[in-house]
Amino acid sequence: MLILHCPCCGIDADETELTPGGTAHLKREGPGSSDEAFERYLFLRENPRGVHFERWRHAHGCGKWFHAARCTMTLEVFGTYSAQTHAPPREILDRIAERRPQERREVA
Ligand SMILES: [Zn+2]
Repeated sequence: MLILHCPCCGIDADETELTPGGTAHLKREGPGSSDEAFERYLFLRENPRGVHFERWRHAHGCGKWFHAARCTMTLEVFGTYSAQTHAPPREILDRIAERRPQERREVA
């Protein structure tokens, strides 16, 4: 079972309390962007086998959105952090590099 620490209210919530929100740190495209950029933003998503940065909502708790870094194969959680960020915190990237030195993840 997936358990994520909600950084907003401080509770360790299991997956029955959470709602997934897809990929974190998407670059939003709006009016004036190219058709290719808008299509990429709207439809194309990574589905990695390994470390992934995701949005989650503590739906049956505080109701707030947050981000999580986890492995999609093992459910290993590297950390959760505020959704009001444009990139993962350095400490989470360092934790991933320490535990998974073979995986190099870049976030745009
Ligand atoms: Zn919460």
